[in-house]
Amino acid sequence: MGTRFARMFATFAGLCLASTSVQAAADSVDEHLRAAKTAAGLDFAGVLVSTCVAPDNTGGGGGGPRVIPDRATWHAEPAKIYDNLYFIGTKVHSAWALKTSEGIIIIDTLFNYAIEDEIIGGLKKLGLDPATIKYVLISHGHGDHDEGAALLQQRYGAKVVMGAADWDGIEKMADKPGGKPKRDIVATDGQKITLGDTTVTLVSTPGHTPGTTSFLFTVKDNGKPVTVAYSGGTALQIIYKDVSKLNIYADTQAKFGRMAAEAGATVLMTNHSVFDNAATRAQLMAVRKAGDPHPYDIGAGGVARYLTVMSECAKAQIARLRTPGS
Ligand SMILES: [Zn+2]
Repeated sequence: MGTRFARMFATFAGLCLASTSVQAAADSVDEHLRAAKTAAGLDFAGVLVSTCVAPDNTGGGGGGPRVIPDRATWHAEPAKIYDNLYFIGTKVHSAWALKTSEGIIIIDTLFNYAIEDEIIGGLKKLGLDPATIKYVLISHGHGDHDEGAALLQQRYGAKVVMGAADWDGIEKMADKPGGKPKRDIVATDGQKITLGDTTVTLVSTPGHTPGTTSFLFTVKDNGKPVTVAYSGGTALQIIYKDVSKLNIYADTQAKFGRMAAEAGATVLMTNHSVFDNAATRAQLMAVRKAGDPHPYDIGAGGVARYLTVMSECAKAQIARLRTPGS
C-alpha cells in the first residue's frame, strides 16, 4: 500500500469510526431517554413514567383473575369538557361522549364494573340520553377499554368500531367480563365515522396491540372549533421484550404525531386518565371563568411533545434490548 493511499485509507477509516460513534450515541438508551424527558417536561410525567421509567407498573387491562376495586378508588364525576364533548371516565381510565346532531359517539368503554356507574349514569347526570348512542369507538381490545362495548351494543343497538386484529383477539376469547361484542365495523386507517354534523377520523396506530386505533376529531369550545388527537394505546409493558412490536409502536406514534400536526390538533387525550390527568383536568372545568385558557388545550407543540415521549421511550427500550447486560 503506497503511503499516500495508506494515509487516505486511515482518514477514511477514522471518519467511518467517528460517524459510527455519533450514530451510536444518537441511538443510545441515554439519548432516547433524554429526548423523552425533554419532551415530557413535567407536563407529561404520567406517560413518561408509564413508557420510560416503570413500564411494569402501569395498571393495564391484561387477563387473569381480577378483583373489582373499591368504588372510592376509581369513581369520578362526569363533566362537560367542550360544547359537545363529555368526560364519563374514571380516575384511572377515560371514556368520552361526543354529542352530534344525530346522537352520541362513545369513545372507549372502561372495565365492565364501571359502565353502569360512569357511562350510563354519567350520561343521565349530564342530561344526555344513553338510548341515542349510535357508535362506540374502541381504541384497543383490552378489558379496561372495551368491556362496556357489548352492553351498549345489545341495549341500545350501537355499532362497535375496532381494529381487525383486536376483533380477532376478542373472538378467540372464551368469554370476557361484560360479554363479547359481536363484530360490527372494522376500523381501517383513514376511515371516517360520520354521525350528523360530526366526523371522527380513524388512524391505525398498532403497537400496544396489533389493532390499536387513534382518533382525530373537532369539538367546539364556546363555539370555537378545536381539534383533538386521541391517542389509542399507551403502556409498553406487554411488548417490552419484542423489538419488532416496539419498532411498530415507535413508528406509529411518530405517524400519529405528523397527522395530529396536519390536522392542527391542540388537545391530546388518551384512554388512561392516570397518564394524562384527564379526571383532574375535568374538575378544573368547574372553576373555569370566561377568558381562561381551556384546561385541555396544550397547543400543537404540547401534542407533538406528548407523542415524542411515546416514540422516544419505545426507541430507548429498543436500545436497551440491544445493549448486553441491560
Ligand atoms: Zn391496553
